[in-house]
Amino acid sequence: MKKTLVLGAGGFIGSHLVKRLKSEGNWVRGVDLKFPRFAETHADDFAIGDLRDPAFVREIIDQRFDEVYQLAADMGGAGYIFTGENDANVMHNSATINLNVLDIAYKRNVKRIFYSSSACIYPEYNQLDPDNPKCSEDSAYPAAPDSEYGWEKLFSERLYLAYGRNHGMEPRIARYHNIFGPEGSWNDGKEKAPAAICRKVALAKGGDDIEIWGDGKQTRSFLYVDECLNGTTRLLRSSETGPFNIGSEEMVTINQLVDIVADIAGKKIGKHHISGPTGVRGRNSDNRLIEEKLGWSPSDSLRTGLEKTYGWIEQQVRANH
Ligand code: NAD
Repeated sequence: MKKTLVLGAGGFIGSHLVKRLKSEGNWVRGVDLKFPRFAETHADDFAIGDLRDPAFVREIIDQRFDEVYQLAADMGGAGYIFTGENDANVMHNSATINLNVLDIAYKRNVKRIFYSSSACIYPEYNQLDPDNPKCSEDSAYPAAPDSEYGWEKLFSERLYLAYGRNHGMEPRIARYHNIFGPEGSWNDGKEKAPAAICRKVALAKGGDDIEIWGDGKQTRSFLYVDECLNGTTRLLRSSETGPFNIGSEEMVTINQLVDIVADIAGKKIGKHHISGPTGVRGRNSDNRLIEEKLGWSPSDSLRTGLEKTYGWIEQQVRANH
């Protein structure tokens, strides 16, 4: 039985990852500031504490784990990352977590460690045209992320790579592109576009307008959480370091995303465009490298994932209103 450690196990992707690792028969320790919000954790052991505190990190990395997944970060959707109000916290908190975790993991002789970076590291200058964003892994430099969140991720990628080069660790780095699914933030200010749109559509009556930030012509791709976990575990268990994009190449405008959700809900929904934080104009995953090196690509359509997510959010809306 493998011993695995999931940092950020109370969060959206982390709580799904714990379930996945358990279903594979591993022993799992989860760590977070909080338990998962929407379901009981499946972890064998769950430690509540603050990874900014090195003494706590020494307590939870008390042995040599076979697999460590570092997902803990101070993060949220556009309403959290792009307003500027949380910049100092985002940078300080996430960088401190990564500095602590990596150094203590190294001293405990942990070798294999997964780090979840983000598509937000890609330069804004390559993402101005909504129809042709460039996000190949080698386009990260010269660096110009459009948020401090992206800059911290880029710094931490480099930190993991440096521990690999200098200390014999085996970092595995993914750049996630907009992961979505059930049991994630949907109404607490940290939700991202798919969850926010599912909530707005679930609350609307047929014929209503819902509010959309910006003109809705900005493009993105969205990856369902189960697909993200397939890519994540495949990368961690491979001999490749990365960074690799883990995302979908099915690019849509935010307006199209609304139309798909409205169709799933069986409602006629109009759009009222208002000003709001939107991030870069266009972004899409580029999976050529991960397909070539790891044979990974998503298997389901955006709509399939949205159907599952909408069903869950509609239940939450019903239970809360
Ligand atoms: P999330 O916010 O749901 O999970 C992060 C977890 O980290 C939270 O549960 C939070 O409580 C925990 N955490 C924060 N500070 C902590 C601290 N000081 N000590 C202990 N725990 C702490 O986010 P998520 O969507 O599950 O994302 C997981 C990882 O993937 C993050 O690193 C995120 O930056 C990265 N990522 C996510 C996406 C996405 O679309 N969800 C995209 C790109 C990158």
